[in-house]
Amino acid sequence: MFIYICNMHYKIGISNPVEHFMGVQWQIKNDTGQNIRVQLPSWRPGRYELASYAKNIRCFTVKDKMGSAIQFKKVTKDCWDIFSEGHEQVQIEYEYYANQYDAGASYVDGGMLYINPVNCMMYIVGRMDEPATIELDVPDDYKIACQLRTEGKTIFTQNFDELADSPFVASAQLTHTTFKVNDGNIHLWFQGQQCPDMDRLIADTKTYTEAQIKIFGEMPCKDFHFLYLILKTTFRHGVEHTDSTVIAMGPESDWKLAAFYDNFVAISSHELFHLWNVKRIRPEEMLPYDFTKENYSELGYIYEGITTYYGDLVLLRSGVWSFEQYCESFNGDLQKHLANPGRFNYSVAESSFDTWLDGYVPGVKGRKVSIYTEGMLAALVADVMIIKASGGKARLDDVMKALYEQTFKAGKGYTKTLYRSLLEKYAGISFQNYFDELIDGCGYLETHLKTALHEIGLTYIFELDALNNKVVKLLKQSNQTAGQQYYFEIWCKKP
Ligand SMILES: [Zn+2]
Repeated sequence: MFIYICNMHYKIGISNPVEHFMGVQWQIKNDTGQNIRVQLPSWRPGRYELASYAKNIRCFTVKDKMGSAIQFKKVTKDCWDIFSEGHEQVQIEYEYYANQYDAGASYVDGGMLYINPVNCMMYIVGRMDEPATIELDVPDDYKIACQLRTEGKTIFTQNFDELADSPFVASAQLTHTTFKVNDGNIHLWFQGQQCPDMDRLIADTKTYTEAQIKIFGEMPCKDFHFLYLILKTTFRHGVEHTDSTVIAMGPESDWKLAAFYDNFVAISSHELFHLWNVKRIRPEEMLPYDFTKENYSELGYIYEGITTYYGDLVLLRSGVWSFEQYCESFNGDLQKHLANPGRFNYSVAESSFDTWLDGYVPGVKGRKVSIYTEGMLAALVADVMIIKASGGKARLDDVMKALYEQTFKAGKGYTKTLYRSLLEKYAGISFQNYFDELIDGCGYLETHLKTALHEIGLTYIFELDALNNKVVKLLKQSNQTAGQQYYFEIWCKKP
């Protein structure tokens, strides 16, 4: 018997907690009585490579309202034709193997149901814009953490894009803390051991959130949710969503270490910056997302590089981090850059395009670079170029705010041409050489980086660590000129 809350209703439960299978019952009203085609996404936004989630599906069946089988046929690895002609109601059932506990996958066991719908929930081709309800078949003492409206055990979504971007955690162990920042509410959810010093975490979160809001002029949502999964093993992974982020960190036994807390705050600041940069300011080639195939873009140095740059810089500017803490993180990135011979072979733009090929594995030695590391360093160079050329009147913040105003607010995506024109507008100089050498070329970054650091009175040296490895160290020049001090202060001034 079908009970429709909505024309699309998903019922999700833990079908086999020991073997980590969740059960999905998807009830569809098929008013036209036509055949339908259903699609499972092939990838998830935030990780620009194919994931082939359909390999986790078993026991796929389709029934009509009387429980009789409806025939179906697969048309691609993750797309099915359902021969539902003449049936006004269709129920699709399957089990999904949810046994990957990270920030972007799904996991179920006897104590929790953690779902990234983009992994395991399908849409009807041609009906992505319809609202849906998701009913969770979980014990009564489970709390539910999700960016979407939730009533009891039911989650409501306006369309499939929203659903695909709305992970949720259901568990009896979830803890929830909420506080205000400006007019918005920040929610901190913890599954696993929560931060032992919540007062400090709340104060730091408020501080860097306010600093990010000032860059863009507004918080684009009323409520933002940090969904923290704290693991017992060593782990660090975060994924951004429209009004939330999932961050998986471990081991929980390291909470007492200063470096672990610094790392935790850094990844949180990075993911929050995505609230604007990529969830709203998005390359036009990814607007809307096409879940069926690669969405190629050469602009990873903007959506990940600039985000990496600001994630740390905002902590420095807002005082959550000291200059020494900032340098610690910067050194790690610079070290990664210098240790990678791929910087002489492939540009950051080419490497962005190829994330779909090997973006998330070390890959062939000397082939490519990281959009995070190279993009971060390129962003620093651009920021200092604007500060210097404008005499301290502008900085990269202005470009990001303008991108937000001119693209997201206008309902469109951005292009490389627009980004470049904004850099040139605020700097008042040409960025031709910057793009030729740093973005589309390779092997030039250190030269530009040294120049940029020099402008703000910084430099880097090499030292031997305790294991006799050569390590890089960022520091302030011993005798900064007044001009260098001036630009340094603009660079790290509060927004
Ligand atoms: Zn990111």
